[in-house]
Amino acid sequence: MKERAGALTAQEDRWAWADQGKCIGRADLFYNSDDESKVRRRRKEKQAKRLCETCPVKSRCQQHAMENRELYGVWGGLSENDRHRLAGRSRSG
Ligand code: SF4
Repeated sequence: MKERAGALTAQEDRWAWADQGKCIGRADLFYNSDDESKVRRRRKEKQAKRLCETCPVKSRCQQHAMENRELYGVWGGLSENDRHRLAGRSRSG
């Protein structure tokens, strides 16, 4: 089969939604480093979640994080703990 010019690879297509994310260039806000205090982490998490609320791909992002069990960072307005709680709830029915 002839490949279309400009066609996305499966991997690129899988991540296409992320190009519209409001967090582009803000990894500092969405991920923590080991040397950050709890207060700072909480403050960053709040800011990140606020940004997610205005993001056009929030649902897709959340779905991705849950399906792929993303361990770190804020995804689709959900923190690591939020996702952990949700995953536990869906497993228990
Ligand atoms: S929902 Fe939040 S984490 Fe997901 S792409 Fe948008 S801004 Fe980034």
